[in-house]
Amino acid sequence: MERRCPDCGVTMEPITLKSNGGYELQAVSDENRGGILGSLGMKERLDLETVACPECGLVRLYAGAEE
Ligand SMILES: [Zn+2]
Repeated sequence: MERRCPDCGVTMEPITLKSNGGYELQAVSDENRGGILGSLGMKERLDLETVACPECGLVRLYAGAEE
């Protein structure tokens, strides 16, 4: 999906955010999953789509994006 910078209106470019340890960041919802994972206390983990504006440097994260 194409993302546009709210300030500049240009197309934002996909980037990868990593922690200092080199791991990719992941969003974890406080909402517990239903079903068997929920009963095991597993929380929902969402993939992140990260985009950056090439004009102003704004970085946005979208949780739950399709790969
Ligand atoms: Zn911008």
